[in-house]
Amino acid sequence: MKKNNYKFWFVIGSQFLYGEETLKKVEEDCKIIADELNASGLLSCEIIYKDIVKTSDGAEKIIKDANYDDTCAGIITFCHTFSPSKMWINALASLQKPYLHFHTQFNKVIPNEEIDMDYMNLHQSAHGDREHGFIGARLKMPRKIIVGYWKDAQVQEKIAKWMRTAIGAAFSKQLKVMRFGDNMREVAVTEGDKVEVQLKLGWEVNTWPVGALVEEMDKVTEAEIDEKMDEYKALYDFATDDIETVRYQAKEEIAMKKMLDRENCCAFSNTFQDLYGMKQLPGLATQNLMRQGYGYGGEGDWKVSALTAVMKVMGEHSAFMEDYTYDLENGISLGAHMLEVCPSLAEGKPKIEVHPLGIGDREDPARLVFEGKAGKGIVASLIDMGGRLRLIVQDIECIKPTQSMPNLPVARVMWKPAPNLEVGAHCWIIAGGAHHTVLSYDCDAEMMRDFARIMDIEFVHIGKDTTPEELEKELFLADLAWKLK
Ligand code: MN
Repeated sequence: MKKNNYKFWFVIGSQFLYGEETLKKVEEDCKIIADELNASGLLSCEIIYKDIVKTSDGAEKIIKDANYDDTCAGIITFCHTFSPSKMWINALASLQKPYLHFHTQFNKVIPNEEIDMDYMNLHQSAHGDREHGFIGARLKMPRKIIVGYWKDAQVQEKIAKWMRTAIGAAFSKQLKVMRFGDNMREVAVTEGDKVEVQLKLGWEVNTWPVGALVEEMDKVTEAEIDEKMDEYKALYDFATDDIETVRYQAKEEIAMKKMLDRENCCAFSNTFQDLYGMKQLPGLATQNLMRQGYGYGGEGDWKVSALTAVMKVMGEHSAFMEDYTYDLENGISLGAHMLEVCPSLAEGKPKIEVHPLGIGDREDPARLVFEGKAGKGIVASLIDMGGRLRLIVQDIECIKPTQSMPNLPVARVMWKPAPNLEVGAHCWIIAGGAHHTVLSYDCDAEMMRDFARIMDIEFVHIGKDTTPEELEKELFLADLAWKLK
């Protein structure tokens, strides 16, 4: 389903106590809020004013409808007046969609002359939303809370970000991952419980033989390759005369895309240890698929592949990454991969180059080479702790690469991790974060925390204030809590 087909339902809390006129005003005000939020231009899809909850049956009906409507990506609640929360219990207890409690008020200030008891009864989210907040806490609802005036740009921006996260969650619930071959032999962190992952995150992770891909490649026509080459020429600079090698990557890309689309898969993994019948490890082929939004993980890392696909839905400039080597003097991490870095991270136009590849024992593959953009971002890693999943997110500051590195034949990104390389790497290792990550310029720690809450998985954030001592304590307590869950 396309991202912008999703809707969010605006569900309003009130009751019959104040009379029909108040309810009419509540409806009017809330329609204005929904309309103006939609008109802000910040939201990736529409908020629909749904209804006012006045009874228990009414609440249940709305939530049941929301659960069964595939286009509904979440509900947003706001109690314009007081709305007794016992009538929300059955409804909220059955809610299966992401839930935002938006604590706002129709008017920004208290009107000095106008204010009387009628005004007070109409504009009382200050205590209506407290009643609503209690039942959320009492039911242990995985909810997002946003507080502030609905016309303020920062508040609207927060709603927009949460909506992108909720759409990521909806996408995650129907994501299918195609594995070409198994994980790299003996590697621990790329393993994981596929049943647990499907239960929590929705990912269907299955394998297809590399032989089937080779058969698909054999069916690709020269005309299809010509067309793909035109696409490469439009998007990238050719820094090689070895056109046959580039054409081979085009053939790999076309065949992989056909298989992915046929099986409705939006993410894939492969490994250099299983390229049976293939002449080159897919480099440019994989990179150009990632540009189109497909998730990818190297060395059979299907977890990072699926996470990449989800995060690309939440924020376009997100990509598979690997911590490779350090500049310890300046506290910088150099990220790259043997080939497969997504061009959505590129500063400027990527170049197609052909170089030998020591790993994998195949012919020299074509790949895109570029430098990453500067700017704030995160790296995210999903690991299997045995019985639960842990999502680790670290704030980073990407910088313009400090050296030209003319002999490095792969795309590269450089960043300073928070709070600094020494403490940041220490914390990452305490938490068990992988060398494979998703680097994103468009998702932030708050979005990933919201995602983890929606999906009911553990979340660990390494930011400017994190210390190894505090983190160790946090993880010790979290370990106990997750065992009790
Ligand atoms: Mn790797």
